[in-house]
Amino acid sequence: MTYAQAQRLVEVELHGRVHRISIMDNLDVVSEDDDVPEEAPEIDEDAVCCICNDGECQNSNVILFCDMCNLAVHQECYGVPYIPEGQWLCRRCLQSPSRAVDCALCPNKGGAFKQTDDGRWAHVVCALWIPEVCFANTVFLEPIDSIEHIPPARWKLTCYICKQRGSGACIQCHKANCYTAFHVTCAQQAGLYMKMEPVRETGANGTSFSVRKTAYCDIHTPPGSVCKLPALSHSEGEEEDDEEEDEGKVWSSEKVKKAKAKSRIKMKKARKILAEKRAAAPVVSVPCIPPHR
Ligand SMILES: [Zn+2]
Ligand SMILES: [Zn+2]
Ligand SMILES: [Zn+2]
Ligand SMILES: [Zn+2]
Ligand SMILES: [Zn+2]
Repeated sequence: MTYAQAQRLVEVELHGRVHRISIMDNLDVVSEDDDVPEEAPEIDEDAVCCICNDGECQNSNVILFCDMCNLAVHQECYGVPYIPEGQWLCRRCLQSPSRAVDCALCPNKGGAFKQTDDGRWAHVVCALWIPEVCFANTVFLEPIDSIEHIPPARWKLTCYICKQRGSGACIQCHKANCYTAFHVTCAQQAGLYMKMEPVRETGANGTSFSVRKTAYCDIHTPPGSVCKLPALSHSEGEEEDDEEEDEGKVWSSEKVKKAKAKSRIKMKKARKILAEKRAAAPVVSVPCIPPHR
C-alpha cells in the first residue's frame, strides 16, 4: 500500500478542515482503463517513488520522472491526477530551475518538493508525516499549509539520525515511552519503519476512515518487518533477522548491546549519506541521471 492509496481512502478532520479527501471522488474522470497517452513517460521497472519508497505501478498511478532532475514520484504521491503528455517537470524544476530549494520542515536537500502557502518549499513526505501539516488542495497536494500549527516542541527536538536540532520539525517513535525523534527525510534515508495504513472506525455516526501513520526508531522496528531502504543505500539493506525479540519480553543485555551497535552503524551511514547529499545538491537544474539509477 502506497501512502497515496492510504490517503485516498480517507477523510481526516483537522483544525476544522478536511485534511485529506478522496482523489477518486473528485476525479471520477480518471478511471482504471483510461488509455495511457502515447507520449506517456517511459515506465522504469526498477523505479521507486521517492515519497513512498514503493515501486508499485498501476495504470491509474504510474511513476513519473521529472525531465530535468529525474525525480521519480507516483502520480498520487505527488498530486498529478492526469498523466502529462510529453515532458513533465517537478514543481521545483518548473518554478525554481536555477536554484536548489530548502525544506521548511527538515534540513535535507533533494527529493520531491512542493511550495508552502507562504512561498517557501517543503518535502511532500515531510508534509505527509508531520501531523499538523496539511495540503490546501488534497488532489494536487499543494500548497503545503498549516505549518504554523506545528507546536514549538516539535521544532526543538533533536534528530537522532542527523543529530541536528532546530533545523526542522521532528516526528517521534510511536513506541510508548520512546521519545526518539527524527526528521521524516532522515528516517526515510535510514530505512526506518514508516507505515501509513487506512483504519476503519465504526462509531455512532457510521463508519469513518482515517490514516494510521506509524513510525518507529530502529530499536523499536517491529520484528519481521522488512526495512525498505532508498535506492541510494542498497549496500546496507541486509536485514538478517536473527533477533527474535518478543514484545514485552525483556532483552538480554547482550542482545540490547548487539542491536544498539548494529543500529549505530546504520544510523552513522545514513548520517553520512545525508550530509553528502546536503553538500552536493545541484544548484542549477540540468538534465542528469543520478548515480543510483
Ligand atoms: Zn509513491
Ligand atoms: Zn525536477
Ligand atoms: Zn523535508
Ligand atoms: Zn535529521
Ligand atoms: Zn523507539
